[in-house]
Amino acid sequence: MENISYLKIGQKGVINFDIPIYTIGQGGVSFAITCSVHGDETAGLFIVNDFLKRIKGKKLNGMIHIIPSANPIAQLTNSRVAFIDHKDLNRLNKGRIDGSYTERVVANLFDFLIKCNMVINIHEFEMKTPVACIFDNMDNISQKEQILSMIKVFSPQIVWQLNYDKQVEAQYQTTLDMALTNAKIINFAFETSQLSLITDEEIKIASQGLLNVAIKLGIFDDENLQQKETIFMTRNEVTNDISGLWEAKQDLSLMQNIKKGDLIGTITTLPDFKKSEIYSPFSGILMQYRHRQMISTGTSIFSIGYQQ
Ligand SMILES: [Zn+2]
Repeated sequence: MENISYLKIGQKGVINFDIPIYTIGQGGVSFAITCSVHGDETAGLFIVNDFLKRIKGKKLNGMIHIIPSANPIAQLTNSRVAFIDHKDLNRLNKGRIDGSYTERVVANLFDFLIKCNMVINIHEFEMKTPVACIFDNMDNISQKEQILSMIKVFSPQIVWQLNYDKQVEAQYQTTLDMALTNAKIINFAFETSQLSLITDEEIKIASQGLLNVAIKLGIFDDENLQQKETIFMTRNEVTNDISGLWEAKQDLSLMQNIKKGDLIGTITTLPDFKKSEIYSPFSGILMQYRHRQMISTGTSIFSIGYQQ
């Protein structure tokens, strides 16, 4: 049993912005997965495609809703936000049904997702990252234990614990995920590397995670959970004072131990092509780092994680 329905958003000229929802199964528990909340993030589509291959032919006791494009206009132009109002879909809380384009998208998504039993939002991170579930460790979240237990079932490579003491992470309080959490929906987001950098192994870890969650929800019978030990991490993000051509050190790998003062990469400044070495200001674990890129002053280049 499969079906495609639409969230009605509107149009510009003759182009329609409605959001398709691909649903498999019927009745019972519902599990929603959203991709491309940010229009330039398409790794989630490949993860979902792998997940759908894994469940092909299996009997479902419930429904799985796939939203392949939560932000059609932004996906169309391969940009983070829609050019119509330049608002970040994931920083508008639960949106506004009588607001601008992106606010309406969020309101419609929110209205659909709060009817689901479980929601997972898939994002791509701007730096290379292990498959990382985002966990909001705020004390006032009543369903914290349920969210945490689903994250453990998903078995990401790491769990990224947000830290609101750090201003850089305070922006995550107005995400669609937090709006769902405040509406008491069991949900979480996970981050992967960008599509051009994600490995086959990471795609498999993420799609197995989706399968694990569906099994835990009871959507599939007689399946074994492939659950792994959970590694909780917080992080310090490092931004650069100089701009130019950033190149990470050749033999760097995610999750390696780093000591304060270790060489992480170089920045070649413009227009003089002078190379500066960039050292870690912290000791810890290399949780994320940016791939080769022309960066501006203040761009994040790597983050050092701390196992909790
Ligand atoms: Zn994103």
